[in-house]
Amino acid sequence: MSTIYYHSNIVSNGKGVPEPITNPVVFLDRDGVINVDSCEYIKTREEFQFIPGSLEGIKQLTQQGFKCIVISNQSMIHRKISTLSHLMDMNQWMISQVQAVGGDIHDIFFCPHGPDANCSCRKPRTGLIEKAASVYSIDISKTIMIGDNLKDIQCANSAGCAHGILVRTGKGLKTESILANEKAVTSFIGDNLLDAVRWIIER
Ligand SMILES: [Mg+2]
Repeated sequence: MSTIYYHSNIVSNGKGVPEPITNPVVFLDRDGVINVDSCEYIKTREEFQFIPGSLEGIKQLTQQGFKCIVISNQSMIHRKISTLSHLMDMNQWMISQVQAVGGDIHDIFFCPHGPDANCSCRKPRTGLIEKAASVYSIDISKTIMIGDNLKDIQCANSAGCAHGILVRTGKGLKTESILANEKAVTSFIGDNLLDAVRWIIER
């Protein structure tokens, strides 16, 4: 079993130890939630396109005191379609774009393995959320996970998040159509990230 995790934006206290997060936390899937997904994978900044409403959604979460943490499967690393440094570079660029509109992404945890790796971090497994929770002392039972894939919702349910939210962007419509046949439980289904954020803020 492989237990490699990566995180790319650690906010440390100068001793190399990340500060615990005391704010409420929203875990966000990346592809199909923040940016337009592609079956060819998102390999470069040029291919990275924000989905309408996603920047605004992250900005509103940030301004309402939520900490956003991205939780993402990136098997393109295992498949050698892209490299770790390209992915890290693109993630840092994504964070800079979010910060430019007044939002923030506190950190990014991703699984670089393929579907056959039997790792503990590839969603629907819960290793990424558990790693984030241990790094930042987060109570998972108070968190929210937003995703477009059945795996995201299954991961949220298995990890014990308070809410799993599905968005209809990316693979979301397809996921919605099969949800009734699955044991996955969603608290809300939104048209896009901004719609999901409105539900979170109005609760
Ligand atoms: Mg996705």
